[in-house]
Amino acid sequence: MLDLRGKVAVITGSTSGIGLGIARALAGAGADLMLNGFGEAAAIEALRAQLGAEFRVRTRYDGADLAKPAEVRHLVERAIAELGRLDVLVNNAGIQHVAPIEQFPDERWDAVIAINLSANFHAIKAALPQMKQRGWGRIINIASAHGLVASTNKVAYVTAKHGVVGLTKVVALETAGTGITCNAICPGWVLTPLVQKQIDDLAAREKIAQAEARRRLLAEKQPSGEFVTTEQIGALALYLCSDAAAQIRGAALSIDGGWTAQ
Ligand code: NAD
Repeated sequence: MLDLRGKVAVITGSTSGIGLGIARALAGAGADLMLNGFGEAAAIEALRAQLGAEFRVRTRYDGADLAKPAEVRHLVERAIAELGRLDVLVNNAGIQHVAPIEQFPDERWDAVIAINLSANFHAIKAALPQMKQRGWGRIINIASAHGLVASTNKVAYVTAKHGVVGLTKVVALETAGTGITCNAICPGWVLTPLVQKQIDDLAAREKIAQAEARRRLLAEKQPSGEFVTTEQIGALALYLCSDAAAQIRGAALSIDGGWTAQ
C-alpha cells in the first residue's frame, strides 16, 4: 500500500466526478487534501468533513474560480499556507461545450480554454517552486481521449486537451532532473455529471430512453462498451504518486476502454 501520510494534495474540481474519485484515492493513502470546485456550500462542507472523518486526513476547501488566474494562484498558495506544503497537484477541473465551430460562442471558447488549459499552466507555475524546494512532486493533468484524437463539435475542448498533453510534456522535460514528475491521464467516457448532460441531450434529440442513449454514446467511441469508473482513474493517479512511477515522465496515459486504440 502506497503511503502518502504527511503529504498534501491539491485537486481542482474535486467536488464532483473524476476529481472526487482522485481525492478519495489520495486520501485513502493518507494525503491531506485541498479540495476545490463549485457546488452548494452546505453540500461541499459536508463532503469536506466526511472525507476528513472517513480517511482521518486534514481537509480544506477553496472555491477558486479556475477561469481566473489570480484565484488559481491563491488556491495553491492557500494550500501551502494552511496545510504546510504541496506535494501532489492534480489539474482536473474542466467543462465542455458542444457545437459546430461556426456556431461555437466566443465566450464558451474562452471559458473552456481558460478552465481546461490555462488554469493548469497557472497552477503548475505556482506549485513548482515548493515542489523543487522539497525535491519531490507529482503533477497529474487530467486530459482526455480528446487530448489524443478529435471528435466533431468539440473544438474548444479538443484544442484545450491537446494543449494539456503538450504542456505536460514540456513540464516533464523541465523537471526531468528532479524528483518531480508530470504526466497526463487521458480517460474515455466516465459517467459523471459532465457526460450525463451529453446523454440527456442525446436522449432528448433522438427521443430515446436514457439507457439507449448511454449505449449509443459508448458504442460510437468506446469498444469495451463500458464506462471507465472514477475509482479506476483514482487508482491510476495513486500509482503515478508511487516510487514505481518515478520514471514515468511526460506520458499521456490512456484509460479509455480502447477508444484511442482504433
Ligand atoms: P464534473 O462536471 O463531474 O466535474 C468537474 C469539476 O470541475 C466539478 O467539481 C466542477 O465544480 C469543477 N469546475 C468546473 N468549472 C470550474 C471552475 N471554473 N473553477 C473551479 N472548478 C470548476 O466532470 P468530470 O467528468 O469529473 O470531469 C473532470 C475532468 O475530467 C475534466 O477535465 C474533464 O474534461 C475530464 N474528462 C472527463 C471525461 C468523462 O467522460 N467524464 C472524460 C475525459 C476527461
